Amino acid sequence: RFITVEGGEGAGKSTIIARLYEELRKRGMDVLLTREPGGIDIAEQIREIILNPAHTQMDKRTEALLYAAARGQHLAEKVLPALEAGKLVLCDRFIDSSLAYQGHARGLGIDEVYAINKFAVGDCMPELTLFFDVQPEVGLARINAARGREVNRLDLEGMRFHELVREGYQLAIARDPERFVMIDAGQSEEQVYADALAALTARL
Ligand code: C5P
Repeated sequence: RFITVEGGEGAGKSTIIARLYEELRKRGMDVLLTREPGGIDIAEQIREIILNPAHTQMDKRTEALLYAAARGQHLAEKVLPALEAGKLVLCDRFIDSSLAYQGHARGLGIDEVYAINKFAVGDCMPELTLFFDVQPEVGLARINAARGREVNRLDLEGMRFHELVREGYQLAIARDPERFVMIDAGQSEEQVYADALAALTARL
């Protein structure tokens, strides 16, 4: 069983997915928690190239292809073996991030970006995707309040970019509405967690 979480900057998805993982394990489930690039050496190296703040010259097509490549490697090396071993896989970001960020916010086109990602991941799509929705102002304020976070190339983008990411997610959801559950991530952490856990357990 393959489950992904998605959302823009500061939506809190990484905090919530870690709590979901602990809860499912407590319930005795065999779960793999992972995130792209997932500690996979090849994918980590690709990710470093993409997010390096010095790479301002990176073409958006290159960026989209590199994300797809890193995703394909993470899937082949980590996610698929876990699924084959019967684990439940909880993954922080997957193909929908690329549809929203590269497809819509960077303007490459959702269909185009979907096509290269299909090449990378084949038929392996999540059965459920929790989308953590938050206003970009709220998400970015949370990020700015958090200390010790690594600076990356996305930090150079303005508010408009993050609005486009949010819009891009809505377009991604519209392509495949049954797969998604939308979580209001503007609420308190406790409420977001409660909603996410309820959505997840309803499908398990
Ligand atoms: O998952 P996390 O929020 O840590 O992602 C790290 C960075 O990569 C973020 O700034 C995110 O917006 C960016 N990203 C991206 N395109 C993707 C996936 C992530 O620009 N397809």
